[in-house]
Amino acid sequence: MDICLYLRKSRADSKEQSVEDVLARHERSLRELAERNGYRIVDVFREVCSGESIQSREQMKAMLTNVQAKMYDGVLVTEQSRLTRGNMKDGGIVQETFKDSNTKIITLTKTIDFNESNMYDFEHIINARELENTKRRLNDGVNRSAKLGYWVSGVPPIGYLYNSSTKGLEIVESEAVIVREIFARVLAGQNYHEIVAWLNIGGIATRKDGNWHVNQIKRILPNETYIGYAVHGRTRWEKFTDSNGEEKRREIALPREQWTVVPDSFPAIIDKETFDKVATLLAARKQLPKRSREGRHPLSGVVSCAKCGHLHQIQKNSNGNLLKACNYRSPEGVRCENKGVSLSEVYKAIRAELGKLQETLVNAPKATKSSGQRKSLERQLQRKQSELTKLTGAVQRINDLYELGDIARLEYLERKAKRQGEIVSKQREISEIQNSIRNTSGLTNEQRLEYIEEFCRQWTEEVNDNELNRAFHKLFAKVEYLREGEEVTLTIELN
Ligand SMILES: [Zn+2]
Repeated sequence: MDICLYLRKSRADSKEQSVEDVLARHERSLRELAERNGYRIVDVFREVCSGESIQSREQMKAMLTNVQAKMYDGVLVTEQSRLTRGNMKDGGIVQETFKDSNTKIITLTKTIDFNESNMYDFEHIINARELENTKRRLNDGVNRSAKLGYWVSGVPPIGYLYNSSTKGLEIVESEAVIVREIFARVLAGQNYHEIVAWLNIGGIATRKDGNWHVNQIKRILPNETYIGYAVHGRTRWEKFTDSNGEEKRREIALPREQWTVVPDSFPAIIDKETFDKVATLLAARKQLPKRSREGRHPLSGVVSCAKCGHLHQIQKNSNGNLLKACNYRSPEGVRCENKGVSLSEVYKAIRAELGKLQETLVNAPKATKSSGQRKSLERQLQRKQSELTKLTGAVQRINDLYELGDIARLEYLERKAKRQGEIVSKQREISEIQNSIRNTSGLTNEQRLEYIEEFCRQWTEEVNDNELNRAFHKLFAKVEYLREGEEVTLTIELN
């Protein structure tokens, strides 16, 4: 689509700024809009004189001549009133010229096609209000700061440092290389988990010295600061009256066309081409969340994975409900391999285990774990945790050796894989001990027996899902699930 830009300062613009500054500022916004929409800019008309009528505006006349000659598909202006306002005769000339040549007027917020509707008169009526809005939008403090390249959005994203004397951003090269590598890895086809694994295994610390998580990567990739853009006005506050008749304010997300986007505001870490490719790739990958919010399933948050200790999710579907496979990944990206199973299997196993427990409790009602046992478990836990710290350190040293060129890549990979395996099993041991510690305190065996009976009564009386879910949580400290081949093992611990 071929277009031209028409720029003119009007009364709506800042009095302190020169015509040249205002036009340059508008031109940047319009060029950004054109680029975003794939428009080809053929001409730029910069009106420097301040007359309102067409007759007194040389650039306007030249532009209309070209429009008449059908040189453009559209004319891009910040708002329609830049072309004409008030004067009905001039308004008529503009309308006729654009209509006859089938040329559109494109503004920051809308496209006007005179051959599609006769909205022009209406546009004239609302122009005064639209003018006020645009004036506010283009001139308020934040937007002006954005256009000057000031950083006004709090803590800058990783890769940047706020410079308080220039009020702008500076690149932190040691962080910028990480950001570039993250983008490169997405383009190379890696998923979030693989990238997180690379960061954590490589011992690359986050700003807060912690592990990387998928959400951090998800925030980095669409952040336009990395291509040097300042983005403001993604949301707007509006007043509303709540059900109690109280007046409140809420934040409304605005469509992108209404944001203030100013290119070249900050030094770029990522080039626009790479950024756009990644955006396209992610949009294609994106899936809508499928989680149903109808209410809790009786087993929600109840069943944990025997391999890694993380909770299993329940999936409701038309051909029976499922306990989903464990979807946990360690910070190093190692995926847990505990498979899912149909829920009827889980219920069956829970019943069987409860039966066994009842029997044990009836026969040995006084056997409880002593505090001495608890102390010994706590000592064990401490030991395992310091072993884990050593293992993490070892991975870091292997990385160092490789970076220094002291070991070859193959050896590096083998040694690292071995350590990672050890880390995963150490983490499992730690979570087992923690569970045992949790289990050494709590109810007496008599109380447990009562709880089991009460629970079984609720289960058979078909109370609603939420109530049953509460009953599960009240009775069980832990329901651990393990699937090996076709065999399902449940380990149950009571509160
Ligand atoms: Zn697991």
